[in-house]
Amino acid sequence: MASIGEKAVCLIAYHLFFMLFVWSYWKTIFTLPMNPSKEFHLSYADKELLEREPRGEAQQEIFRRAAKDLPIYTRTMSGAIRYCDRCQLVKPDRCHHCSVCDKCILKMDHHCPWVNNCVGFSNYKFFLLFLAYSLLYCLFIAATDLQYFIKFWTNGLPDTQAKFHIMFLFFAAAMFSVSLSSLFGYHCWLVSKNKSTLEAFRAPIFRHGTDKNGFSLGFSKNLRQVFGDEKKFWLLPVFSSLGDGCSFPTCLVNQDPEQVSTPVGLNSTTKNENHLFPAKTLRDSQSHLLTDTQSWTESSANNENGKVVPKGMSNPALIMENET
Ligand SMILES: [Zn+2]
Ligand SMILES: [Zn+2]
Repeated sequence: MASIGEKAVCLIAYHLFFMLFVWSYWKTIFTLPMNPSKEFHLSYADKELLEREPRGEAQQEIFRRAAKDLPIYTRTMSGAIRYCDRCQLVKPDRCHHCSVCDKCILKMDHHCPWVNNCVGFSNYKFFLLFLAYSLLYCLFIAATDLQYFIKFWTNGLPDTQAKFHIMFLFFAAAMFSVSLSSLFGYHCWLVSKNKSTLEAFRAPIFRHGTDKNGFSLGFSKNLRQVFGDEKKFWLLPVFSSLGDGCSFPTCLVNQDPEQVSTPVGLNSTTKNENHLFPAKTLRDSQSHLLTDTQSWTESSANNENGKVVPKGMSNPALIMENET
């Protein structure tokens, strides 16, 4: 039998993991997803104009004008401005329309039935911590239950109903540990590459073409985008992600649009030695967002040929709109 000291350590550890698990789960469930700010919505005049203009190219002209001063770098597959018909807004980079929530969600990762909420910019850190702490919780239970689980099979336990609880508890904890560790591992990889689940399935398309690492700034900066600059908040489910969810630094920000002439569809070479980091940090871009329009106003006429390109890979498991 375990000593008093061992029991105390187990009790404290158990409740610590349990509390952190419930706290992060709670925050993931009840943190409302963030929607694009009003700057991204079409003006009333533009909406009226849109109703009168059924033609594609004229509509694109309206979207282009609306997006002119917005910090937007991504495009649809055909090179057009990303626009949400349902919400009537120009979609910020990394924003997608969730068909379950029926809203545009900033930096949408996926709609999660386990938390009955969209996982996106506002709660992605909580979701990661929820995975981490639930995994830790399950591993702790499986590890402390293991010796009794072995005794169950070697007839070392008293012959009561309670011994079946030991067996079921171990199976449940072990099975959740396996599935949670694979999901948690996958999301750790996504964070290290600064990708959302949606972007891992379909790479974002920039003005110069598809770039699966377009938002990656290097491991350390990628980590800080989600967890923030202050290490003391990293392990707690309090919001500390960098940025405003509407604009994201990309390694391509400072490239001269004139020199970026790779056709749509070709992968760019962001991984070579010429990898450019933005001169603006996220904090800078956040504070200047939409006030310092000069820095965002680049020629947006590149690649806007309005040509319809066949739809690329799509994943039926993902609840998001398709863009052509
Ligand atoms: Zn929408
Ligand atoms: Zn959703």
